[in-house]
Amino acid sequence: MTAPARVDQADTFNQSPPYEDVDLYRSDQPLKDAVAANGAGDEGEALAAFGRRWGSAEMFEDARLANENAPKLRIFDAKGFRRDVVEFHPAYHRFMTESMAAGVHATTWQSDGRHAPPPSEVTRAARFYMSNQVEAGHNCPITMTRAAVAALAAEPALRDQLLAKILSRHYDRRFLPWWQKTAITLGMGMTEKQGGTDVRANTTRAVRVADSYAVTGHKWFMSAPMCDAFLVLAQAPEGLTCFLMPRFRPDGSVNALQFQRLKDKLGNRSNASSEVEFAGAFAWRVGGEGKGVRTIIEMVQTTRLDCAIASAGFMRSALAQAVHHARHRRVFQRALLDQPMMRAVLADLELELEAALALVMRLSRAIDCAPHDPLEQARARLLIPVAKYWVCKTAPGFIYEALECLGGNGYVEEAMLARLYREAPLNAIWEGSGNVMCLDVLRALSRDSEGSRTVLEALGQATADLPGAADALASVCALLARGDAEAHARAAVERIAILAAAAALRDSAPAEFAEIFARARLREGRSTTYGTATLSGHEMTRLIDRVLPG
Ligand SMILES: Cc1cc2nc3c(=O)[nH]c(=O)nc-3n(C[C@H](O)[C@H](O)[C@H](O)COP(=O)(O)OP(=O)(O)OC[C@H]3O[C@@H](n4cnc5c(N)ncnc54)[C@H](O)[C@@H]3O)c2cc1C
Repeated sequence: MTAPARVDQADTFNQSPPYEDVDLYRSDQPLKDAVAANGAGDEGEALAAFGRRWGSAEMFEDARLANENAPKLRIFDAKGFRRDVVEFHPAYHRFMTESMAAGVHATTWQSDGRHAPPPSEVTRAARFYMSNQVEAGHNCPITMTRAAVAALAAEPALRDQLLAKILSRHYDRRFLPWWQKTAITLGMGMTEKQGGTDVRANTTRAVRVADSYAVTGHKWFMSAPMCDAFLVLAQAPEGLTCFLMPRFRPDGSVNALQFQRLKDKLGNRSNASSEVEFAGAFAWRVGGEGKGVRTIIEMVQTTRLDCAIASAGFMRSALAQAVHHARHRRVFQRALLDQPMMRAVLADLELELEAALALVMRLSRAIDCAPHDPLEQARARLLIPVAKYWVCKTAPGFIYEALECLGGNGYVEEAMLARLYREAPLNAIWEGSGNVMCLDVLRALSRDSEGSRTVLEALGQATADLPGAADALASVCALLARGDAEAHARAAVERIAILAAAAALRDSAPAEFAEIFARARLREGRSTTYGTATLSGHEMTRLIDRVLPG
């Protein structure tokens, strides 16, 4: 009998191999350069071990599973008793286990709550950059747990009680009182229905009961609801106040957090984001009554830089996959990577990514140095909202362009690009949306005008000889001096971002990159699409060769 005709594997050709089993550190020259330039070059071996693990096929597969199997809310048990728990796919728990074992939530703190010495921020930023190239959703509780330590500094006795569990590397998924667990994670609840940005409009109330508080009200967004405790804002008698609300009361009973539903989100599927009501929930006060914003802002400043680092990581993942594909795909008798217009697109994307990465790593160094260096402290204060604004706003358009480099394959779910594309807008929204970042830059300029001016002067000096830089700085100063500066804040902040990125490129990228970047983004002016910068053939090759080793 004749075998039925079939199209077998041998007929499938000219498809790029999967992008997996890559060392996310060793294959990333710009990252290695930025790590070295910012004082963490000695960490290379440890970062490469992390990069190999996170770039394994197993991790990419787990990321698919964690995102295709979204968390489920179980409000009641079979007999109608409240449970208020969220179930995650085992792949999500594996990511939490891996990130916490590597200390991505913890290594920037010492066991007494002080900052770990440099280059802990830079090393940790490199890890966060790599892990976000694989799976973003679980990084929500990872970043919040780390950042919460900064806010808890306002209540040292409480912090010291919890710190060993917060810094523990042994992830514990069990729903148990915090003191029975090997490690705990922390979340944050600020946003209410009537206002997220304007937290002073919060209506949730807190009344004092003995030496703690009972909190009644709601939060419209509260992510990672299986965290063991949440920093929440509520109105106390003296005004808006920060509290730490554990899932279990000190007597071991389940605390009164009642989840209403989980958000059905555009992306960020592996992570759960809840709507929650507090029915007289037990909470400890953190910081003084009426000092809520001042207390919780310490946490938010930390997560804001993480938003920018994560978005740069998404950009890196998208571009690495685009270059990988273009190298293996042939069109019209040559590799896609050798087609002149594709080279222009990929080189322009790499230019943007180099700048974003250089900026976030430079700001990580600023945090490392801030405790002993007022200029670095002022740099972090002024430029973190700048970076959050610019990098997080850049990522969606960047990923869209990288996605298109894979043609139709980029648009289907098996390729990771679709997930990155849906994930990307979130970093620009949470922890303060775009306009709010620009307002924060204006606030930094008015509250610490001397420190901010010194930072701008330093940027001016570092970029003085770059094309278009002097004009850009002059226009920033002119925009900020206007009576209606708020209406022009986006223009000013974007130019500060480009100047700061150009200055950072000077430290960490090949010598000519700062000049190319300034020429393309300041003198020529930024285009709304990629592949439009006037780059020479040599410059394109220099840029593309940096993305992935051949
Ligand atoms: C998936 C997801 C998870 C989240 N998880 C959490 C969480 O765990 N905890 C938490 O507390 N919150 C969380 N949030 C909420 C998030 O932080 C807020 O949505 C965000 O801060 C914006 O607040 P809002 O939605 O109330 O919008 P609004 O504050 O109403 O803002 C709407 C728009 O107006 C702009 N705007 C605001 N003020 C001004 C102004 N003065 N001038 C010009 N423009 C202005 C903003 O930039 C924004 O674009 C989450 C959100 C999402 C999408």
